[in-house]
Amino acid sequence: MNSITHRAKWVLISPEQIIENGFVTVSGGRIVASGRGRGPKGTRKKDHGPGMLMPALVNAHTHLDLTALDGAPLPDSDFLSWVRGVITGKAALTKEEILAGILKGQEFLWQSGCILAGDHRSFSLETPFSENPFIHVFHEYLGTKFPPIVPASNGASSSLAAHAPHTTAPRLILDLKQRCRQKNLVFSMHVAESPEEMEFITTAGGTWAEFLESRGISFEMWGLPAPSPIRHLDHLGVLDSRTLAIHLVQTDRDDLKILARKGVRVCVCPRSNRNLLDQLPDVHAMVDWGLRPALGTDSLASVSSLDLFDEMRFLVREVPDLSPADIIAMGTVNGARALDREKELGTLEPGKRAVMLFLPVDGANSEAAIAKLLSGDFQVSPEWVL
Ligand SMILES: [Zn+2]
Repeated sequence: MNSITHRAKWVLISPEQIIENGFVTVSGGRIVASGRGRGPKGTRKKDHGPGMLMPALVNAHTHLDLTALDGAPLPDSDFLSWVRGVITGKAALTKEEILAGILKGQEFLWQSGCILAGDHRSFSLETPFSENPFIHVFHEYLGTKFPPIVPASNGASSSLAAHAPHTTAPRLILDLKQRCRQKNLVFSMHVAESPEEMEFITTAGGTWAEFLESRGISFEMWGLPAPSPIRHLDHLGVLDSRTLAIHLVQTDRDDLKILARKGVRVCVCPRSNRNLLDQLPDVHAMVDWGLRPALGTDSLASVSSLDLFDEMRFLVREVPDLSPADIIAMGTVNGARALDREKELGTLEPGKRAVMLFLPVDGANSEAAIAKLLSGDFQVSPEWVL
């Protein structure tokens, strides 16, 4: 089989291992060797020169079916006004506009170097895009009624999601989780995002309770109040290493301890949280608890781009006590782990798929090159090396 060795001044094999004058040898679409030097003899060589080879990115949380709401105004008052705006905006879209938005969103992801996305999709029609192995579609449900569950098609990468603890009846959350458990699939859910959710779960009252009542949704049987959204889900028995919890802005030490003990996978979307709530999750505490947070952009209804480099640069600016290695891990290997694709993606180690990016970043040492990569001044589209 034809082998090719890619060389570059910098090779980011994993977040902790950046090699000067490194190589990655590829055969049959897989990485067969990587390290320092020229690489194995007898393989074709391609020298990319001064710049960095790195793993393609993984965006663990998107809503591509909201791409058509790009440019809609963000809330000027509270989270609930944004929710109402999204519901109204989405209801006004045609099926064709939603499908065109999904395609456009996929293109944005590709242009920004993302090889895999975890996409919550409440648009219930089967689409050809769910066959795309690099979009993991989470068919998302909410409310109280048991919907017809969309089955995974042949070859599709998909599973199920409940929207959130404050929008979804516990029996439905449990049913969706059980269906994922039976097939050993990742189950995804927004958790502990807004103060409104927190107030509703902990008091069974507040503005969210009024909102549900106004929509005719009864929550009397939801087992509320509970000490926190995380403890509510823990009590339901849906937290384990195949559950992906998104956001986690409203968490305390006990919540993080539960997540760590249960091995729950976590994903944060800091730019979305800043835009909608003016709050950020405690990413540093998550790293300290060994939760290995993944990174997501959320949708264009709450952020200005689906570019994970923008998300990583935001973390550098806003959470300065995170190390560059932590931030790179969030955008690559932690995302692959969150979506159960760590054996294939996320690092440039032998055995993984050969999906790499080349970026023309340089520096006097590896720290300087990484700092430039994550700097707000460096805005260059990555080049795919496949
Ligand atoms: Zn979301």
